[in-house]
Formats: sequence, C-alpha cells, structure tokens
Amino acid sequence: NNKTFTMIKPDAFADGHTGAILKMIEEAGFKIKAIKTVKLSAEDAGKFYAVHSARPFYGELCAYMSKGPIVAAILEKDNAVADFRTLIGATNPADAAEGTIRKLFAKSLEANAVHGSDSDENAAIEGSFYFSELEKI
Ligand code: ATP
Repeated sequence: NNKTFTMIKPDAFADGHTGAILKMIEEAGFKIKAIKTVKLSAEDAGKFYAVHSARPFYGELCAYMSKGPIVAAILEKDNAVADFRTLIGATNPADAAEGTIRKLFAKSLEANAVHGSDSDENAAIEGSFYFSELEKI
C-alpha cells in the first residue's frame, strides 16, 4: 500500500513546529492527500487509541492527546508506512536517530511530536477516523 496516516501532536503544534514538520514530510517525498487541524476530546482520543486500552499509559496518552489542537493528515508515497516510521524515528526520542522528526522536535516519550501508523491496515482505519470519503482526494 502507498498511504499512511500522521498526527502532529499537541506540544509540537503549540510550539509552532507544524510548518517545519510538514516541510520535512514533503521533502522526504510524501504527498499530503488530506489535512486538518482538530481538537480531540478525551473521549475521542480514547476511541482513536482503543487498541492501546490495556496499556498502563492509556489514560495519560488520551489526556495528553486531548490537551490541545493537533494536525491530522493522510500521506501518500511508495512504501509509505515503513518510510514514514523511518522519517519520524524511534517512539522514545532518546532512541531516535539524528535528523529524524522526533529527534528534532520530540520532548519526551509521551510528547513525541508525531504519530505514524504501524501498518497499512491501521493507516486506513486511522485515516477514516478523521476524514470522510469525500475528503480523501
Ligand atoms: P505512534 O503510534 O504514536 O506512532 P508508536 O507506534 O511509535 O507511536 P506505541 O507503542 O504505539 O508507539 O505508543 C503510542 C504512543 O503512546 C507513543 O507515540 C507515545 O506517545 C505513547 N507512549 C508509548 N509508550 C509510552 C509510555 N511508556 N509512557 C507514556 N507514553 C507512552
């Protein structure tokens, strides 16, 4: 598949890194197919992260993701899911490679700047959480 889904998380958005992050994404060869700014309620975040509901950090993650606006986007590129996870770097910024989005903009394991889908199946599910069929150009 050639699509993935990303979110620019609340800290990175609030700190004004949206433009720099989108520039890195486009320069890496991803096309932005859909994009919007939204603010999740804790309940919305809970639905989005339902797959993580058994994890010990689930409550904090949902609170964090609903604390301020985020940017949600569908991206297109060959090998999108894997290439995007390479571009963003490891989940924990302490482990993220030099030059990755998380190395540059993440503050912590929780406030790690961006989300990237982990499979083609989840990319489709996550994109459909935010965008209608009409918005998927
Ligand atoms: P994402 O799905 O956001 O791209 P990921 O797949 O790299 O991240 P997951 O293990 O799916 O990481 O965790 C989802 C998100 O939950 C992480 O991006 C991070 O913000 C947060 N998270 C993961 N582990 C922890 C933890 N131990 N404590 C707090 N937050 C965590």
